[in-house]
Amino acid sequence: MQTKNIAIVGSGLAGSLLAIYLRKRNHQVTVFDRRPDIRQIQFSGRSINLAMSVRGWKALDRVGIGQEIRKLAIPMDKRTMHVNGQSEYHQYYGKEGEAIYSISRGVLNRKMITLAEESGVIFRFNEKVWDVSLPEAKIYTGETEKGEWKEYQYDMIFGCDGAFSRVRHKMQRRSGFDYSQDFLDAGYKELGIPANADGTHKLDKNSLHIWPRGKFMLIALPNLDGSFTCTLFMPHKGENSFELLTNDAEIIEFWKRYFPDTIDFMPTLLKDFKNNPTSALVTMKCYPWTYWDKVALVGDSAHAIVPFYGQGINAGFEDISVLDDIIEAYKGGSWQEVFEKYQEARKPNADAIAELSYRNFMEMSSKTANSEFILRKKIEKRFSEKHPDKWIPLYTRVTFTNRPYAEALDIGEQQAKVMDEVMQLENIESIWDTDEVAQEIINRLDIYKINTKSITQ
Ligand SMILES: Cc1cc2nc3c(=O)[nH]c(=O)nc-3n(C[C@H](O)[C@H](O)[C@H](O)COP(=O)(O)OP(=O)(O)OC[C@H]3O[C@@H](n4cnc5c(N)ncnc54)[C@H](O)[C@@H]3O)c2cc1C
Repeated sequence: MQTKNIAIVGSGLAGSLLAIYLRKRNHQVTVFDRRPDIRQIQFSGRSINLAMSVRGWKALDRVGIGQEIRKLAIPMDKRTMHVNGQSEYHQYYGKEGEAIYSISRGVLNRKMITLAEESGVIFRFNEKVWDVSLPEAKIYTGETEKGEWKEYQYDMIFGCDGAFSRVRHKMQRRSGFDYSQDFLDAGYKELGIPANADGTHKLDKNSLHIWPRGKFMLIALPNLDGSFTCTLFMPHKGENSFELLTNDAEIIEFWKRYFPDTIDFMPTLLKDFKNNPTSALVTMKCYPWTYWDKVALVGDSAHAIVPFYGQGINAGFEDISVLDDIIEAYKGGSWQEVFEKYQEARKPNADAIAELSYRNFMEMSSKTANSEFILRKKIEKRFSEKHPDKWIPLYTRVTFTNRPYAEALDIGEQQAKVMDEVMQLENIESIWDTDEVAQEIINRLDIYKINTKSITQ
């Protein structure tokens, strides 16, 4: 394929990784962002911590930057559960040595921009894209919507401009473009746990900490400097909601009641709570993701999901490695063909991880503390250890394999049916770790004809 002059809108994680991939294929790449260069400013405005897992690492490793990025990340091999009135306990994510990795989105984004720049990508910060001409691959930037605009002409444009994408906005005006946006009733707020005076962590640093409280929960992910970034997920309205926590007394009373073990760790709680915004959580779906051989959406601009499976940017990075596979496979063909294959390959998987992420809110916020759920997970874990060819737990398949998300959703639903029945067996609490229970699972896998072949990685 010929060298192209390509514009990417958005220097977030998807935009900067895609830029590195396209440079590897010798294209000229310019990235536009409305923000200033985040490496020049103290605080990027969003300090979210991400859990990076296998799909994300695969995409980073493919262009040789995984090792560099791993230096910025902390492995978390388990959830540590903080249930009121009980001692904390652990739920390991995978097999020995398997972990997800906590990494600050801002720190990662800074590094990725530097790596992209080193590979020859040109960045144009403080340039907001207001409009796009889809058939001509032109973009228009300027200070204000009504002011003067600059026009740029490219061979093609990638929209990596996030959940509220301007590039997608232009595609939305075309007939035949499907679009939906669903806001969750719950929102989130970032809070902090500072490091100890000697720079060590106040909680186990190799855990994703969860305080599940039914319809709301607090989570904490470790940072390299000894601090934790906490996120409170909670309904906007109603009982135990953001709308009821409006002053110091209400916040403190709520905290003492629901998260008493954290009070001493969170000296900046009131300040954080009042200063940090309450942000919305949205699922956005659309189709098609491409226009002729001119424009394609990648990352959150194509599929924004709620964060409860920790897969948002893992899915965005997987878009890029799959797109690269398709570019390789269709080297002799056209970009239009590449774009069509890309959207056909990714759309069912984006929909599947959107669904799984939505469902996982209830699992994280309430079921993880439920004894029946814990027993169910123990049975699954034991069975999958004894029969790895027959059973990969859903979380493992999503997080620690590169199997398609759509397959994970499908097989996960069949496994859930099996487990619903197994949990009804008499005395399951006492016989859960027997071969008899394992045989019951095998029988049901046969009855439901669950395809164990596609289960193997
Ligand atoms: C609370 C929370 C927790 C999360 N946790 C995880 C997790 O654990 N694991 C995980 O994998 N994912 C997680 N995610 C999801 C992850 O943060 C996103 O999937 C990821 O940041 C999306 O990257 P992106 O590059 O597609 O879009 P964005 O990060 O939104 O970047 C878009 C870029 O485009 C620029 N831009 C926008 N409009 C314009 C314009 N008109 N002109 C020029 N530039 C423009 C923006 O300034 C920005 O730089 C989480 C998200 C949230 C909200």
